[in-house]
Amino acid sequence: MAAASQKQDTESGDQSAWHALDAEEALSRLDASTAGLDAQEVRRRLAVYGENRQRPLRRRGGLARFASQFRNLLIYLLLVAALVTAALGHWIDTAVIVAVVLINAIIGTIQEGKAESALEAIRGLLAPEATVRRSGRRESIDAAGLVPGDILILEPGAKVTADVRLFSARGLAIDESALTGESVPVSKTTDPVPAQCGLGDRHSMGFAGTLVTAGEGLGVVVATGERTQLGQVTEMLAEVETLTTPLLRHLDRLGRQLALIIVSTGALTALAGILLHGFSIVEMFMAAVGLAVAAIPEGLPAIVTITLALGVQRLASRNAIVRRLPAVETLGAVTVICSDKTGTLTRNEMTVQELLLADGLHVLRDRAAPSDGAADALARAVALCSDAAVEPAGGERGRISGDPMEVALLALAESAGVDIEAYRSAHPRLDGIPFDSGHRYMATVNADDDGHRLIVKGAPEAVVPRCDRVLTGSGTAALDEAAWHRQAEHMAARGLRLLAVAERRLDAGPADIHHGDGPEGLVLIGLVAIIDPPRDEAIAAVAACQRAGIEVKMITGDHAVTAAAIGRQLGLATDERGVTGDDLDDLDEAAFRRTARQRSVFARVSPAHKLRLVEALQADDEVVAMTGDGVNDAPALKRADVGVAMGQGGTDAARESAEIVLADDNFATIEAAVHEGRVIYDNIVKSILFILPTNAAQALLLVVAVIAGLMLPVTPVQILWVNMITAVTLALALAFEPPEDAVMARPPRRTNASLIPEGLGWRVIIVAVAMLMGTLGLFLRELAAGRDLAEARTLAVNTLVLFEVWYLFSARRLRESALNRSGFFGNRTVLIAGAVILLAQLLFTYAPPMQLLFDTRPLGLAEWFLAIAVSLPIIAVAEGHKAWQRRAGVGVPGGAGR
Ligand code: ATP
Repeated sequence: MAAASQKQDTESGDQSAWHALDAEEALSRLDASTAGLDAQEVRRRLAVYGENRQRPLRRRGGLARFASQFRNLLIYLLLVAALVTAALGHWIDTAVIVAVVLINAIIGTIQEGKAESALEAIRGLLAPEATVRRSGRRESIDAAGLVPGDILILEPGAKVTADVRLFSARGLAIDESALTGESVPVSKTTDPVPAQCGLGDRHSMGFAGTLVTAGEGLGVVVATGERTQLGQVTEMLAEVETLTTPLLRHLDRLGRQLALIIVSTGALTALAGILLHGFSIVEMFMAAVGLAVAAIPEGLPAIVTITLALGVQRLASRNAIVRRLPAVETLGAVTVICSDKTGTLTRNEMTVQELLLADGLHVLRDRAAPSDGAADALARAVALCSDAAVEPAGGERGRISGDPMEVALLALAESAGVDIEAYRSAHPRLDGIPFDSGHRYMATVNADDDGHRLIVKGAPEAVVPRCDRVLTGSGTAALDEAAWHRQAEHMAARGLRLLAVAERRLDAGPADIHHGDGPEGLVLIGLVAIIDPPRDEAIAAVAACQRAGIEVKMITGDHAVTAAAIGRQLGLATDERGVTGDDLDDLDEAAFRRTARQRSVFARVSPAHKLRLVEALQADDEVVAMTGDGVNDAPALKRADVGVAMGQGGTDAARESAEIVLADDNFATIEAAVHEGRVIYDNIVKSILFILPTNAAQALLLVVAVIAGLMLPVTPVQILWVNMITAVTLALALAFEPPEDAVMARPPRRTNASLIPEGLGWRVIIVAVAMLMGTLGLFLRELAAGRDLAEARTLAVNTLVLFEVWYLFSARRLRESALNRSGFFGNRTVLIAGAVILLAQLLFTYAPPMQLLFDTRPLGLAEWFLAIAVSLPIIAVAEGHKAWQRRAGVGVPGGAGR
């Protein structure tokens, strides 16, 4: 049947048939073959069926975001205030309050929209890939390019990216929980199942959105994009990541508590005013409204959200893609990083350095491998027992692609004179056991001149015990296992990665190898030692982490001695050998925890050990970042405080479980991300420390005025102006604050530490009192000089704003002095924000519409000088407090949170 009529089938919803069809029938209906489509056919079908994309995540629309801005206790309070002022006929107050609520909502909507797009753009960086067979060749493509009829290759850890009818399945198991809710992986076969089967029982199918957990399979794509089963389950796609983090929730709670305290203080103050000074109820109501408006940092949630979103963008530009927003905060608090070795700490540029054969050690370095006797047998064995591919690039010289270690082995075979393509086609692969970091070897069965040959390669500990003889130049000899292990350790101590290669003639045929505990009775051909040097930037990053009080642990599947040697080169530990997975198994719970804490190099560990290590470290209150790439790493990644998956070498399964994905698989990126996480947290703390004294000063101003029986120095609408327009603009500038020098020179923040770091609460109070005294003093002086109330208020508001502008410069540094060049000029955004605000204050003071709205009066030059003279010393106050703290050692050497 032609492809076009298949389209009709699928569009009319007749998809149920595929699982009930014979695999061959499905292939022929799709006009496909097991060798895959060719490029021209793919293009044609892409034009017919469109790209293989799910409908984009349903985003909250602008209106919904706008509406959500009103779901806030303070806004309710303001709206009530607006109603009451309207009822009292204070129309201007009503208008300003409503305008401010609207402006607040609009700013919030725009900022959240930006934050959401930032996150979405970043999610776009994680576009899924698919491995397909096209024109008989294996290719890795963007999953959007899949078309019906494509042959999809399924391997452990890979995400199934379209609906497929399986025509080959070896031990294939697929986790379909995302689609069916079934938590246990489903075994797949190629046999047709009855047409009326439910999704969960369609064992002959693989569905888009599910994950391969084990085995291998091949399937022909039957549906793509929205025509897949996933595409039809629309609720699943409605999953929108909410813009919330523990910190934001914490702030929200704080805001609500604050609101309650403020309402009661407002009521008490109003009562005091009425009883003590005989103020009218209306006046006192306005004072209480002013107090509520003054004390609550309205703009804070928006500032925190935008700081986080900016941070996520900066992280992406440093190759760390954040999948879950709260991870940004957690990153800054990480105390232990557990990292894989190969490719993350090392370069993953592998070359074979040495061969150990029955006749002794052959050091190759840059020389070609010997091509006789056991060396030749070894070269031929690795040519067959390898998943790396040789592609004729430009028709002449072969290009080898695949896992770097296997590429190194094929390069070895080539240098020994093996024509890999010819040799492979003379000895086709009939069966195999794929490599798995649990059993640490792979095996293939190849056709041989007179029967079948089983070839096994893997870690020496996994392969040598399966051998009973060793290949020599003239036949085979008895194997001295202990001697081989001793030699292996010498090679490993030079930091070399080891691989043993063995083979056996198979009499019983290929099926043999899947039985029992794996292959036995092999003939050992030899050991290959491969160099994979540490990345230079990883050495620097490990040192930086150690200075920052973060422990780095290497957790690898490699040999204990190799791991320790690389560990020494990285500056992790001086141990002779790493703790092995077997060592860990022998420990009781307490000893396990101790070992997890004290040792830094863990070798020959399985993914299950990784999970136990994370749990043990967390039980000791460590905040753990853990890297992983394999499908079995998913539980450890989920459990870790920050799961870090590899973007290049990792499986989809690992990526989906991780909080952060490294686009470059590089350890140095984790260190950069922790650095960035600390900066983001610092900047949020800086914003809070900046905004709180202003709020406190305004609230105190009203309370003091009422209790002392004075006129209000600032009106509620003026306070709204200060809070919404000036404080938020200024505080937002702190989101762009560059890192302080000492971010990575202090220990990690404790996660249970309060939002306001030790000793800094006092700064809030001291600064608030200074602002209060300056503003109130000037206000009273103006009144005493016989100025009109509105003019005195105008001066008071301008003084308050000037206080903020100067204080902003000091707030850029939590503990370091800001009295230097970089303190003043280091953040351009702060300078711009300051200038914008000064301009806004001029408008506030002189523009007639603003004078009408805010009841302001023009000020003379002398009054401006006065305001500057009174407010500027706030820098001395804040800097004095910092200097005193540094001398007294309060909170030092910690920064934010310590
Ligand atoms: P890390 O866990 O740090 O990435 P690793 O890559 O060494 O380290 P594994 O991939 O689990 O960890 O490999 C463990 C051992 O298995 C290797 O030291 C090697 O001896 C063997 N091995 C690795 N890849 C293959 C392969 N493709 N074929 C056969 N054996 C392999």
